[in-house]
Amino acid sequence: MFKKSQIETFKSLKTPFYFYDMDLLDKTIEQVKLHGQSKGYHIHFAIKANYNFRILEKMLEAGFGIDCVSGPEIERSIEAGFSPDQIAFAGVGKTDEEIQIGLDHDIFSFNCESLQELEVLNDLASQSEKVAKVALRLNPNVSAKTHKYITTGLHENKFGIHPDRFSDLFELLPKLAAIKLTGIHFHIGSQVTDLESYRQLCERVNEFQNIFEGKGYNLQHINLGGGLGINYKKPEEEAMPNFKSFFELFDNYLDVKPDQEVHFELGRSIVGQCGSLISKVLFIKEGVSTHFAVIDAGMTELIRPALYQAEHSINILTSDKEPITYDVVGPICESSDTFRRGISLPEVQRGDLLAIRSAGAYGEVMSSGFNLRKQVKAYYSDELVEKAVTD
Ligand SMILES: *Cc1c(COP(=O)(O)O)cnc(C)c1O
Repeated sequence: MFKKSQIETFKSLKTPFYFYDMDLLDKTIEQVKLHGQSKGYHIHFAIKANYNFRILEKMLEAGFGIDCVSGPEIERSIEAGFSPDQIAFAGVGKTDEEIQIGLDHDIFSFNCESLQELEVLNDLASQSEKVAKVALRLNPNVSAKTHKYITTGLHENKFGIHPDRFSDLFELLPKLAAIKLTGIHFHIGSQVTDLESYRQLCERVNEFQNIFEGKGYNLQHINLGGGLGINYKKPEEEAMPNFKSFFELFDNYLDVKPDQEVHFELGRSIVGQCGSLISKVLFIKEGVSTHFAVIDAGMTELIRPALYQAEHSINILTSDKEPITYDVVGPICESSDTFRRGISLPEVQRGDLLAIRSAGAYGEVMSSGFNLRKQVKAYYSDELVEKAVTD
């Protein structure tokens, strides 16, 4: 994954920093185009996974739209060059101000999550003398079989409109003159690796679609959200997810009406594997049953391990000594600031560099200023001046 000449350059850069492999990103995007766009599917990149302009540039070139979950994300997408008619806006808690941003730009779709939100959107749209295009986010009660904090499609989750509310919904919709129902939307969760969850989703979508048709609504689009997972354990072996089987599943199980558009919102699966957090070993400490490798990156740069017990693969870049057992920990005053426990790695010493892999999605964007730590830099493989290797 890392060339010797890149590692040579890393040695001269201030750590920690994010590094993006743009070649891998290009190849991943190619797969999405080959297996998804080729079927006529519309792809929105979930900007919350990574909002760096260099990354967004690639999504724009690919012809993808954007999936936003906040007003500032809409503004950034437009700044990056995306057309508002490629922008979907989801989220359970849109503020009036954020809704107004969407209205002002005439975005492709407000993905509405409750009846009250529909009423508020209708009021704001009519005040602006606009008609808002709406896709209803429905709760399909399908398990994503992923970490409970990133499961979103179950009845107990806060997301989407529950089928129990459908009769109220069908009563309400005709009263909302400033809203045009254009689609239905789903997103069952993130880091979904069992495609069976998506097969179940297709079944629910087909049922819901029939209910809407029965009420006389012909839906212009179906939006299936995102969530496709990546291989955190072995990023070398599986540098990108199997987009072929993912899109084929929908091709096989989803009932699509003539002229109906099918949309997806993919985040992690596109950018997850291309990013690494590069960090330096500060100290080695002998524990009772392990060695602690204390590194200069912490949960402030990559919070996924602390937040969802995520385990990222770690590559030691500057040592090929015999492996020993380490707990790799950050410098922050929280015991959850631990990247890995009991992992076998080549023996390291102060100053050795390591790469925390698969950090391209929900990594840099979730950085925090806790402990007054500064936002770290990002470097891109196609801009990095690689140094000659000297021994
Ligand atoms: C987060 C999110 C996505 C993207 O999820 P990934 O797991 O990164 O693919 C898509 N749609 C909605 C509504 C989201 O909230």
